[in-house]
Amino acid sequence: MDFLRPASWEEALAAKAEHPTAVPLAGGTDVMVEINFDHRRPEYLMDLNRIGDLTEWEVQEDSVRLGASVPYTKIMENLSTELPGLALASHTVASPQIRNRGGVGGNLGTASPAGDAHPALLAAGAEVEVESVRGARRIPIDAFYTGVKRNALEPDELIRAVHIKKADGPQQFSKVGTRNAMVIAVCAFGLALHPDTRTVRTGIGSAAPTPVRAAAAEDFLNAALEEGGFWGNGKIITPSVVKQFADLCAAACNPIDDVRGTASYRRHAVGVMARRTLTWTWEAYRGAHRTTEGAA
Ligand SMILES: Cc1cc2nc3c(=O)[nH]c(=O)nc-3n(C[C@H](O)[C@H](O)[C@H](O)COP(=O)(O)OP(=O)(O)OC[C@H]3O[C@@H](n4cnc5c(N)ncnc54)[C@H](O)[C@@H]3O)c2cc1C
Repeated sequence: MDFLRPASWEEALAAKAEHPTAVPLAGGTDVMVEINFDHRRPEYLMDLNRIGDLTEWEVQEDSVRLGASVPYTKIMENLSTELPGLALASHTVASPQIRNRGGVGGNLGTASPAGDAHPALLAAGAEVEVESVRGARRIPIDAFYTGVKRNALEPDELIRAVHIKKADGPQQFSKVGTRNAMVIAVCAFGLALHPDTRTVRTGIGSAAPTPVRAAAAEDFLNAALEEGGFWGNGKIITPSVVKQFADLCAAACNPIDDVRGTASYRRHAVGVMARRTLTWTWEAYRGAHRTTEGAA
C-alpha cells in the first residue's frame, strides 16, 4: 500500500486524478477500522491531514461553510447556535476520542445510512462542495446519497466543505440506540423548523437504504400549519396533526431487520421520534413567539 501525503489541496486533487482508487484519510475513524479488520486493502491511502483548510469553518450570512475535516468536537463547541441540529447529532457520535478525530466529510464519504450527521444535514438544508482537477461543483444534500454506503462523488473528486443553512428556528435530533454512548443508531431523526419560509424539514437515519427526508410528512405538516395559521398565532399544534405527521414519517421508512433492530421497531421508533421532536421544536418556537409578542 502506498501512502500519499499531499501538502496542499491542489496536490491532493492532482494525486486523486492520477490515482482515482486512492482512499482519502481524514480522521481515519472509519477507514482505519476497515483496514485493521482487513475489509479493505487499498492500493493507495491519501492522508488529507496536512491540508489545514479542511479543518476550518466560516460563518457566512445565511450559511456555514464547514471544512470537510472539522471534527465533531469543534462543531459542538463552536457552532451550536448556527447549527443546533448538527451540534446535537455530533454529541451522540461515539466517544470524545472519536469526536476529536471524526468529522462530517468522513461521515459523507462513508455514506452509511446510520451516520449521525445525515439527518441533521437533511433537515437543515445543505450542499456538499466537491472538487477535482476538472473543477468544483455543489451537490444538494438530497442528491448526495445514492445507495447503501454510496454517494454521488466521482472517482477523481474530493469533498472540500459542506455548506449548511444557518438555523432560522428551533432544530432537534433524536437517536435510538442500545445505550447512551458509543453506539451506532438503530434509527435517528432530525427536524428543523424554518419560520423564515414557514416550512419544516426532516431527516431520517438508519431506516432506509440511504438517509432520507419524509417528503409527504413535510408537505402535510407545511399545509396544516399554514391552513391553521400556526406560524402566526403560535398555538399548540392540534394533536391529530402531530399524529398524522408522525405516521407519515414512519411510512417514509424502508427499513430492514438486522442485528441492531427489526424493521417494524425502526418504523415505530421513527414515528415516536417525529412526534417528540416536533413537540420539542414547536414548544421552543412558541416560547420565542410569545417573547416577541410580549416585546411588541
Ligand atoms: C468506535 C467507533 C464508534 C463510532 N460511532 C459512530 C456514531 O455513533 N455515529 C456515527 O455517525 N459514526 C460513528 N462512527 C463512524 C465514524 O466515526 C464516522 O463516520 C466519522 O464521521 C468518520 O469521519 P473520519 O474523519 O474519521 O473519516 P475517515 O475514516 O477518515 O473517512 C471515512 C470515509 O470518508 C472518505 N473521506 C474522508 N474525507 C474525505 C474527503 N475530504 N473527500 C472524499 N472522501 C473523504 C474516506 O476515504 C472514507 O471512505 C464510529 C466509529 C468508531 C471507530
